[in-house]
Amino acid sequence: MTQIPPTLPLRALFDAQHSASRAQIDVPLALRRDRLARLKALIDQHGAALSDAVQADFGVRSRQLTEVADLFVLRAAIGQLHKELPRWMKTRRVATPLYLQPASSHIQRQPLGVVGVIGPWNYPLQLNLGPAATALAAGNRVMLKPSELTPHSSALMASLVQGAFSADEFSVVLGGADVAHEFASLPFDHLFFTGSTAVGRKVAAAAAANLTPTTLELGGKSPCIVDASCKLDEAAVKIAHGKLLNAGQTCIAPDYVLLPRGQEAAFEQAYTAAVARLFPTIAGNPDYAAIVSDRHHARLQSLLNEAAAQGARVVDVAAGTSNTGTTRQMNPTLVFNPGPGMKLLDEEIFGPILPVVAYDTVGEAIRYINARPRPLALYWFGSDTSARDQVMASTVSGGVSINDTLMHVAHEGLPFGGVGESGWGAYHGEVGFLRFTQQKPVLVQSRFSMGHLFYPPYGPRFDQIMGLLKRWL
Ligand code: NAD
Repeated sequence: MTQIPPTLPLRALFDAQHSASRAQIDVPLALRRDRLARLKALIDQHGAALSDAVQADFGVRSRQLTEVADLFVLRAAIGQLHKELPRWMKTRRVATPLYLQPASSHIQRQPLGVVGVIGPWNYPLQLNLGPAATALAAGNRVMLKPSELTPHSSALMASLVQGAFSADEFSVVLGGADVAHEFASLPFDHLFFTGSTAVGRKVAAAAAANLTPTTLELGGKSPCIVDASCKLDEAAVKIAHGKLLNAGQTCIAPDYVLLPRGQEAAFEQAYTAAVARLFPTIAGNPDYAAIVSDRHHARLQSLLNEAAAQGARVVDVAAGTSNTGTTRQMNPTLVFNPGPGMKLLDEEIFGPILPVVAYDTVGEAIRYINARPRPLALYWFGSDTSARDQVMASTVSGGVSINDTLMHVAHEGLPFGGVGESGWGAYHGEVGFLRFTQQKPVLVQSRFSMGHLFYPPYGPRFDQIMGLLKRWL
């Protein structure tokens, strides 16, 4: 395992970053691009070692999965930041209303200062280095606290970052929940958190004590509506891919399926065929990731046991392939007739278990979704555009893919984030850049300003001008 690099104590590190950020408020394009280039070089030169570290953290997780879901996404994000920075950094001219003319106005885009990033374990490179790259591009200093559940990749990121950046520029802090709490209690200029809704509440509370603004990228139960007009075979492959990428350990994985009543047998058949096509075997198949820890595996198993004990029908979709049980690779399952009160329908699943909830009308499916916290993602499959429009108009979610799963996250031009309990604030693309940017409004007064007309003492001239203005507005 990579040596954990020695770092300054947390508060001293923050103070060093804070002083540096106040000493250089105007961060030029060349320096921002240089920081991005150093980050990109680190990913390019150590991509294989980073993939190996992720594989070591999961036990089983293919290099290709890390390549597509972590490194490719990171490269795309850094490439876009590098290209668009000159445009995004530019001062924006704003039209000045008649009553303030002949003044002029603009919005100056400035770095916030020191940004804290707390990240999860499921895509440990993308979800830690991605927000860090965006914050660096916006001209900030960055402190990153990755997850303790992926010790190999977290330690490697720490040592690589330490080799390429000064500590007051970009640093990685290692540790578990205690360190994370201390980290979240630092008076950052912005704190960006990706993780569970439960921990997100704690982060928001710790940040509130400092009036630190937060972005919370959280989880939840993302529904996948299969419309009566849907071709099940085509949809099942996309649903299985979205559900089983990283063995379901994806924040925007479809958490459960809403299926027209009566289509259960057809869906079971289509999903089973889709899984067999994507993952002909489970045990030992590196394309099919292991569950990250024994504790997480046991939690998923207990969700299944509880559902079966309470009368749901649990189908092991890969029963035909042998699973020796020697790894934490967990067979994909479908759960039919899940009942109210089962944890499976209350908790975010975050594993390869897919409950199927039957509905009779589109309105019933919509009511089911709206009776629960607003989801991070929503998926809809079908060809009936009026049913689709009804769902789109009647539900609120962090993001949507129609006739696909996951893909909206890969579009750097679409803001990515949650709503309500699935989080607040979005990133990716310019929206992400602005998340870490102060948009400072500036009004430049003219020598010929008419402002004195509004000064006291108020008299008939003031009333006359106000009367005129009322007619204009
Ligand atoms: P988690 O909430 O358990 O941990 C996330 C991070 O928070 C870790 O670095 C951890 O050390 C830190 N942490 C723990 N206690 C803390 C505290 N008291 N104060 C501050 N930080 C603390 O999440 P996880 O298990 O790593 O990730 C899985 C969850 O993350 C799922 O709910 C998933 O949906 C969500 N997630 C969301 C997104 C998104 O973009 N919205 C992406 C990936 C994962």
